[in-house]
Amino acid sequence: METLVKEKTDFRNYEQGEITAAVKEHYRKMRSRQTYEYVLRMKKKYLTFERPMDLWDMMERLNALVDVSDPDLNLPNIIHLLQSAEGLRAAGRPDWMQLIGLIHDLGKAMYLFGSDEDGTSQAEQWGLVGDVFVVGAKLPDTCVYPEFNALNPDMADSRYNTDLGVYSVGCGLDNLHLAWGHDEYLYHVLKNHPTNTIPEAGMVMVRYHSFYPWHTGGSYRQFMTAKDEQYMEWIKDFNQYDLYTKSPVVPNYEELKHYYKPIAEKYLGAGPIKW
Ligand code: FE
Ligand code: FE
Repeated sequence: METLVKEKTDFRNYEQGEITAAVKEHYRKMRSRQTYEYVLRMKKKYLTFERPMDLWDMMERLNALVDVSDPDLNLPNIIHLLQSAEGLRAAGRPDWMQLIGLIHDLGKAMYLFGSDEDGTSQAEQWGLVGDVFVVGAKLPDTCVYPEFNALNPDMADSRYNTDLGVYSVGCGLDNLHLAWGHDEYLYHVLKNHPTNTIPEAGMVMVRYHSFYPWHTGGSYRQFMTAKDEQYMEWIKDFNQYDLYTKSPVVPNYEELKHYYKPIAEKYLGAGPIKW
């Protein structure tokens, strides 16, 4: 699982039973409420690009997000981003990929203008974080807690509950609607940004990093094209650095900002980004 489990499990001491219950409840809500209609509605609602904000201001504001599954956790969100970026830098990966490590979860800042009813708030995060799946087609057993698949109203709708659903064979990943969350949100924000020159691989890493039933579970092959095989390689490459590795050294934000700021400006320009 992405954010809710992996980013936390080894990092702190907490009641394992409690965290499991909170994570499970998150996924129960996510699976039962993320329908095809919901996703289209969220795209229309949130992809308006009307809030200009500096990248670094956004980084700092994201830091205030407390994960509902672990409210006592005092590990700031930004630490995960800095550690992912630093992991890429230490491995000698290209500067644009280091930048992706730094910003890949920045779409979670959607909570700043989100709501409980949309699942995009501090209190309700089922439209913000967690492993995503395709909406408008049958939910696969490779989803975490597959027992919740039956709770999705679309699974009782003949338009949506088949292997292809509303899509066609080989339509390509980019033509699917995935559950709404921070990946898809940030992807569109960056795509809409006029001075964005992040390579295609980086954009794919942003967009599909939470798509675990596909990149790790092996589902949805019916939709894949030759291009998507390349996507898979990119995602698997990036995924190692998204894993939360315990580090005794907590990165120093101000210090690292000096290193990453020129890279961010190289690929995104110096002006504000419209969220
Ligand atoms: Fe993420
Ligand atoms: Fe992440």
